[in-house]
Amino acid sequence: MTTLYSNAWVVTMDDERTEHERGWLLIEDGFVSDVGGGDEPAADEHVDLRGAIVTPGLVNTHHHLYQTLTRARAQQADLFTWLRELYPVWARVDAEAEYAAARTGIAELALSGCTTVFDHHYVFPRGRTGLVEAEVQAAREVGVRIVASRGSMDLGESDGGLPPDELVEDLDAVLAETERLAGELHEPERGPRVQIAVAPCSPFSVTRKLMEESAALARRLGLPLHTHLAETVEEEGYCRELYGCTPVEYLEQLGWLAEDVWCAHCVHLAPDEIRRFGETGTGVAHCPTSNLRLGAGIAPVRDLVAAGVRVGLGVDGSASNERGDLFLEVKQALLVARGRSGPDAMTARGALALGTRGGAAVLRRDDLGSLEPGKCADFAVWRVDGLELGGAVDLVAALVLTAPHRVDRLVVGGEEIVRDGHLVRADEDEIARKHRREARRFAA
Ligand SMILES: [Zn+2]
Repeated sequence: MTTLYSNAWVVTMDDERTEHERGWLLIEDGFVSDVGGGDEPAADEHVDLRGAIVTPGLVNTHHHLYQTLTRARAQQADLFTWLRELYPVWARVDAEAEYAAARTGIAELALSGCTTVFDHHYVFPRGRTGLVEAEVQAAREVGVRIVASRGSMDLGESDGGLPPDELVEDLDAVLAETERLAGELHEPERGPRVQIAVAPCSPFSVTRKLMEESAALARRLGLPLHTHLAETVEEEGYCRELYGCTPVEYLEQLGWLAEDVWCAHCVHLAPDEIRRFGETGTGVAHCPTSNLRLGAGIAPVRDLVAAGVRVGLGVDGSASNERGDLFLEVKQALLVARGRSGPDAMTARGALALGTRGGAAVLRRDDLGSLEPGKCADFAVWRVDGLELGGAVDLVAALVLTAPHRVDRLVVGGEEIVRDGHLVRADEDEIARKHRREARRFAA
């Protein structure tokens, strides 16, 4: 069965950054079989996109889906104050709340053009089970791909860590749970829908031993590794006091600067640390809105890209970026790069590349991020006949500069999961209603 999507401005994001202004895309069995402009190939089914833009599906590289339950709290706090206020509230999370939260966060992402969702879950109150499974179920229902992580915290307040003791876990239990989830959920075949990553939370909530053992486990099982790093100046002070070095130096000591690792934020990096990221192949999840919301600073993205670092975009959790819209983050990345480094710091297409190819590279998914033969048929269709794009000639640049947008269609593995701006496999109103019911338990 082949499907031809035609009459579109196709942004392939291939190595040459080829665009077909009057292009088409041929899909077969969930994968791209051909893409081009001009003469159209024959197909079993034909979809006329009426001049819309087609981009690869966006790839989100950092999120905490459960945080949709606690938006707009600690509104003027820095990271550590914000965390201390929210940890006890997050301790109420269970599988039902997680499922409602994940459906909401995933639906928001899908409606912003995101086809692959990474989630960093690290709050596991004792005795609550099924949290990661709930996220995976939500992703399967909405229809996106998910890379779910088994996060962890084992450095509680009484040992000099930031989280309350009731929220930290035993190291052996963390590792055993991670291995169990990987065995049950991680798909090794081509074009996987569900993968598992290993993701201890941060230098200020995880012991050195758990960081090291998490890396050993991930490398034994062939899973990617993720953590938060160098988000705020306070974190750097904390690391210097506890470990006598910067967060990046600490990570290097742990064997965590490597090509199977990506780190969220990386706002506060010295020039030689940026170079070390490039040399070691360590990736970065850039979360510009969250960094602005918490007043953390602006990551040196132009320098990171120039140093050859793999950089993707993340919305981050909805308690520090209340709007989980990944296409908006593409525009935000452009704006903050220019705010920090001047008007030539990033082009509109460069920003779009971070949200698509960059994200795929960060997750080490060479089957995603571009529209080329053999890649997964994951793409977003954007209407260009609305009010906001009037007067634009370069519609691709205009799409980025006028964000946010609700995606018109979203296709994952050849299947449409958004059509006419609405979820196909789930009901947005029902998701919102059930989410509000669960969120009540987190209100006070
Ligand atoms: Zn985060």
